[in-house]
Formats: sequence, C-alpha cells, structure tokens
Amino acid sequence: VKRRGRGACMLFEPGMMEQSLEQARLANELRQALERSQFVLHYQPVVQMATGQVSGVEALVRWQSPARGLVPPGLFIPIAETSDLILALGDWVLRTATRDIAQRLAQLPANFELHVNVSARQLIQSDFSATLQQALHDSGLPPQHLTLELTESVLIEQDGQTEERLREIRAQGVKIAIDDFGTGYSSLAYLGLLPFDCLKIDRSFVRNLCSSPQDAAIVSAVLHMAEGFDVAVVAEGVETAAQAQRLRQMGCSHAQGYWFGRPVPLEQVDWSTRALP
Ligand code: C2E
Ligand code: CA
Ligand code: CA
Ligand code: CA
Repeated sequence: VKRRGRGACMLFEPGMMEQSLEQARLANELRQALERSQFVLHYQPVVQMATGQVSGVEALVRWQSPARGLVPPGLFIPIAETSDLILALGDWVLRTATRDIAQRLAQLPANFELHVNVSARQLIQSDFSATLQQALHDSGLPPQHLTLELTESVLIEQDGQTEERLREIRAQGVKIAIDDFGTGYSSLAYLGLLPFDCLKIDRSFVRNLCSSPQDAAIVSAVLHMAEGFDVAVVAEGVETAAQAQRLRQMGCSHAQGYWFGRPVPLEQVDWSTRALP
C-alpha cells in the first residue's frame, strides 16, 4: 500500500524529478542572468481617474533570455524567492527603477509616483532600510516619489517585525501599497494595525465588475474602506472602457491595466493624458 504521508508520497509523484531538475537549472540560469545583465524593467502607467493624467508607473521585471526569449516574472520570481537570489534581483530592480525615474522626473507631474514590488524576503532583511536609503541616495530620487508594493500575505505572515519595518520605511518618506488586495488571508483585523498609503484592488475583482453584482459589491466595499482609512486606491487589470467608466463612477482614485497601457520599456511609455469614458 502506498503511504499517503505528504513527503513520502511526493517522492513518487510522476514528473517531480523533471520539475525539480528544471527548477534547479532555472535557478542557476537566473544567477548567471543577473551577472550578465539580462534583466530588464518594463513600466506600466497608473492613471489618475479624476484627470486622466499618468500619475505614476509600476516597474515590472522581465528576463531577456537569449535562449528562452522574454520571460515573464511569474516564471522566475517564485524561483528567485526560494534563495537569496531575490535579494540581489530586488536590489537591482530598486536601483534601476529609481535611477530611471529620477532621470526624467523634470518631465513628470509633481505628484508622480514610482511603484516597485518588494518580496517578503527582502522586507525581513535587517538592513532593508539601509538598502532603500542607499538606492534613493544613489539615484537622487526624492522619497515622496517612491511607493513600495507588498502583498497582503507578506504583511500578515511576518508578525510584529513587519509593522516596525513599515514604520522605518515610512519614516524615510517612502509610501507603502498593499498589492493584490482581497486575495490574501482575508482578515481585516490587521489592516487597522499596519501603516499603509495605498490599496491595489486585485484584477480578479475588476474582471467581472460590470457583470457580477457580487464583485461590484466587493470593489465598492474596498473603496469605502479606503476612504475611511484615507488611502489611495488603484484598481488593477482594467481592460475595457466599461470597467474604467464604472470604477470612475464608483469613486476609484486610480486605475491601471491594458486599457490604459501595457507594461513597456520606459522609452515606449505613452505619457499623454488619457481621455476617460
Ligand atoms: P503584480 O504586482 O500584481 O503586477 C501586475 C501584473 O498584472 C503584471 O504582470 C501586469 O503585466 C499584469 N497586468 C497589468 N494590467 C493588466 C490587464 O489589464 N490585464 C491582465 N490580464 N493583466 C494585467 P507581470 O508583469 O507578468 O508580473 C506578474 C507578477 O510578478 C507581479 O504581479 C508581481 O507580483 C511580480 N513581479 C513583477 N516584477 C517584480 C519585481 O520587480 N519584484 C518582485 N518581487 N515581484 C515582481
Ligand atoms: Ca504589484
Ligand atoms: Ca497586483
Ligand atoms: Ca499579482
């Protein structure tokens, strides 16, 4: 009889061997990719719903692999996160994005915000604040133009230490956004405890906004909550004019999605004010 114990059973799972070999191979390739400068940043506009102005961008990393082509982050960030590789990659992202935006800040709106994704593993480093400070200093980007995006799960998992870390970050003048809001461990209790400046509504709630009264109710509730907390909201994954219009009617302050612009290299970003439906 085959044992159903978790670890033991996993060993006999077909395809496991190939999968872990492929993962090990990828981890190695990623380490080399960093040394060979094969990572690139794409930027996706964030639009202010009251004006249509591009009020910010989110930096999204890609791997320009000679063998595999342009690899999306969903395929390598989880692997990088299993080792310290995420620290080196995260540091590269933070430094590159802050430098890119600092260089063109003069052409951007006064309230412009760069959003950068940060992994749990980066945040729990005792020297994260110092790393952040260094990136800001070296790039010359004033801290009020930077927002760090952290997922809900990151924020809950790391207990009391997280709260302290977030306060350090905010004391430096850098803002905090809760990413993929609504997809994590759905406890609202922690929200009142953690300092943050922005909620990003996950695109799974935006997708059926116009056809599902339930999803519309969730989005509406998050918008009301954000108002109570006096924080900004970014609706993610806006793909249609109807979604944009609905979000605007509901009082959503910011939106992001293919309808406003896909993530592209910095020089290809369309900075023009969007006409809103
Ligand atoms: P995310 O932070 O939720 O980023 C938004 C993702 O949604 C991006 O996928 C973006 O291309 C995609 N997206 C934007 N608008 C639309 C839309 O209208 N429709 C649809 N279907 N998708 C849209 P991407 O670039 O593949 O990134 C995936 C995830 O990888 C990110 O999700 C983030 O969690 C992670 N990631 C990306 N860059 C970094 C990074 O520098 N550091 C870390 N730690 N994670 C990163
Ligand atoms: Ca994000
Ligand atoms: Ca997100
Ligand atoms: Ca996500």
